[in-house]
Amino acid sequence: MIQAKGYAVQGPESKFEPFSFERRELGASDVLIEIQYCGVCHSDIHQARNEWQNSIYPMVPGHEIVGRISQVGAEVSKFKEGDAAGVGCFVDSCRTCENCKDDFEQFCQKQAAQTYNSTEMDRITPTFGGYSNQIVVDENYALKVSADQNPANVAPLLCAGITTYSPLKRFGVGKGQKVGIVGLGGLGHMGVKLAVSMGAEVTVFSTSPSKEEDARKLGAHNFVVTKESENIKPLAGKFDFILDTVSAAHDLNMYLNLLKLNGAMVIVGVPNKPAEVHAFSLIGNNRTLAGSGIGGIAETQEMLDYCAENNITSDVEVIPIQQIEQAYERTVKGDVRYRFVIDMQSLA
Ligand code: NAP
Ligand code: ZN
Repeated sequence: MIQAKGYAVQGPESKFEPFSFERRELGASDVLIEIQYCGVCHSDIHQARNEWQNSIYPMVPGHEIVGRISQVGAEVSKFKEGDAAGVGCFVDSCRTCENCKDDFEQFCQKQAAQTYNSTEMDRITPTFGGYSNQIVVDENYALKVSADQNPANVAPLLCAGITTYSPLKRFGVGKGQKVGIVGLGGLGHMGVKLAVSMGAEVTVFSTSPSKEEDARKLGAHNFVVTKESENIKPLAGKFDFILDTVSAAHDLNMYLNLLKLNGAMVIVGVPNKPAEVHAFSLIGNNRTLAGSGIGGIAETQEMLDYCAENNITSDVEVIPIQQIEQAYERTVKGDVRYRFVIDMQSLA
């Protein structure tokens, strides 16, 4: 076994503490990654606090992992020692079901092995995430990361990047389209950068007036403060596509009404409570309401390559692991500009 160390929570109300655990010895197709940076996704907070009622403890969160390959198994062909590599939200899947074969491993019909708060495919061995110094993963579930980009800024692409890239691509967002991004946090700010890079006219819908200047720096063309309904009314029927990244309960009907003929709204945020949708919000203008979950390995690699070519990374605040509690508090308040990323050297 390989000795690893990280930070874990022992229960929904407990604080993060140093935690020692074991990673498996490298199999023939495994790589060992020395973790340099790990992003702090709001999903980490939901799960550390058992807000989705499915938490397994002790939990080492973290699924926005970037580091260097420090060892490779005998049959590894995709990576060599020293390569930059990443790990996203899952570390294995059955590889044989329809969804796995179609490159949607995140929806493996036998359930993918999530990077943390889950088990390996043996359904016994717990998985521990990226708030740690190293991780063992099958090379087929590791991503190639550009060595030219700053790894701290790349880490959030592994979840926030792919979660926003995938629906923008799936709904054909491009030039001449009006796109709304709801919530300017980790996912939202990546949604803005990506939609702008695809040629869309982007409007940010935010509860935080103080984020307007940043939104414009990120490339957004318009900024709407959602707390005042008179700001929203004139925009009815104007949008081709809206991406909703909000992590807390909010009214969906207000945003659906902004969609034009055949417009679509995609939900990626996961509030704790179900939302109410009025049938008329969908019937008018033949609107579509859809969801989207991260992305498969092939699409995640496509997104990383796209971001490398287009010089896109995340805006981050780098923190030592010892500040993780404060980072959670600030994220919950919407006070993150725009992703906390843990420098894993702070573990040493
Ligand atoms: P985040 O950084 O905390 O951003 C969420 C943003 O939502 C906040 O910055 C804030 O933006 C807005 N917001 C927060 N509370 C609000 C409220 N009460 N009313 C209205 N707006 C509010 O979170 P994140 O990491 O981007 O994640 C967002 C959500 O996506 C989480 O629920 C997470 O679990 C989920 N997620 C889903 C997937 C997927 O595959 N579908 C993947 C990753 C994450 P403003 O200040 O601009 O209003
Ligand atoms: Zn995430």
